[in-house]
Amino acid sequence: MIGKKVETAVNDQINKELFSAYLYLSMSAWCEAQNLPGAAKWLRQQGREEVGHGMKFFEFLNDRGGRVVLAAIEKPAGDFVSLRDIFDQALAHERKVSESIHQLYALAAGENDYASLPLLQEFVSEQIEEEKTAALIAEQLKRAGDESAALLFLDHQLGERTPESD
Ligand code: MG
Repeated sequence: MIGKKVETAVNDQINKELFSAYLYLSMSAWCEAQNLPGAAKWLRQQGREEVGHGMKFFEFLNDRGGRVVLAAIEKPAGDFVSLRDIFDQALAHERKVSESIHQLYALAAGENDYASLPLLQEFVSEQIEEEKTAALIAEQLKRAGDESAALLFLDHQLGERTPESD
């Protein structure tokens, strides 16, 4: 049975993962409107992954005899300056998520909740990948600057993302 403190923190994390999904969907919608279909697809796929993260915590809490309590999901930003702005924000967001996962890990360890640690370790590793990917794309977009040929190439490349190649 999971303790109250960790239960509450996992419920918060479910909300954060679902907010991430909402944020990426909002970014995807902006890209669709800007005729950047590759980036829109990439961000939609990222949104789906975030729902998957939320569901992992959802199922974990149920499996541990905890109670899932869903809260309101915050409204995500809807206006962005550029594709570069989107990936700068995505990177900043992923860094915040990493921090939140680290805090959750520290809480579970402090509560001697050893059963939670393997899943949290999985997310610690997942966040290394998330930050690395967002940082790489942000850097490429920075280099592309306002060159439309480079932007179109990067948009096309982002569109190659498939669920299997994550
Ligand atoms: Mg996530």
